[in-house]
Amino acid sequence: EVVLETKDLSMVFPDGTQALKNVTLTIKKGELVSIIGPSGAGKSTFMRSLNMLNKPTDGQIVFEGENVLKARGKQLRQIRRRIGMVFQHFNLIKRSPTYQNVLHGRLGYMPSLKGGLGRFSEEDTRQALEILRRVGLEDQAFKRADELSGGQQQRVGIARAIAQTPSLLLADEPIASLDPSSSENVMTYLKNVCQEDGLTSIVNLHQVDFAKKFAHRIIGIKAGEVVFDGSPKELTEGI
Ligand code: ADP
Ligand code: ADP
Repeated sequence: EVVLETKDLSMVFPDGTQALKNVTLTIKKGELVSIIGPSGAGKSTFMRSLNMLNKPTDGQIVFEGENVLKARGKQLRQIRRRIGMVFQHFNLIKRSPTYQNVLHGRLGYMPSLKGGLGRFSEEDTRQALEILRRVGLEDQAFKRADELSGGQQQRVGIARAIAQTPSLLLADEPIASLDPSSSENVMTYLKNVCQEDGLTSIVNLHQVDFAKKFAHRIIGIKAGEVVFDGSPKELTEGI
């Protein structure tokens, strides 16, 4: 079952930088794909093009059968709702409690109006706690996000993304700001959560060793082009 397909995807920024060149890929349900490549290779641009944060200049993106580049307005919002995002710098609301950060994912970054402006119902809170449990942070639910360690904050980032019940998870350099032991820990949770849900995920990493350890499939990008696509075992030399 194909979740995502790109065909000859190209991106030229207004200043003339060609960040992607004819990227053609098929990603199947449940795959954990890692995109690797040197800084400036186009990993981030590729990811941002999938939900049209950067609109590609050419090619095609088909996500769950829908033509993403043709989507506008409500259809585009619905596509974005099905794509969870995890960021290098976590992008949490630092002063909000952890459980509320999680709910911002499920509510599509809109505050709940159920219990009054900016308030969350008991059911919302219960669901947030359940999701936090899955990333081992139930006991941190009522702490401010910025009281947590970096690794913990990224696990909140993962919880927020899965709270949205996406069909695709995109993580852009999720461990680039973390030490090796937190990185290992975060990648383990990410992988487990995806496997439990059969969730397809694409993770940009610049550390090849982590990609080899956690991904089912590695895609190497260099100067905007796919230069490798195979299993971790098949990747014998650098990208
Ligand atoms: P990576 O994520 O692999 O480090 P990026 O996707 O961030 O690479 O960048 C790919 C190329 O596109 C780089 O040459 C970068 O400088 C360029 N680039 C990224 N964003 C923009 C932009 N908004 N305008 C112009 N060039 C950009
Ligand atoms: P774990 O769940 O395995 O403890 P964390 O992501 O919580 O992993 O922690 C990652 C690293 O950060 C560990 O080395 C841990 O000792 C450290 N750490 C945990 N909590 C804090 C904190 N509040 N401030 C600073 N470092 C912390």
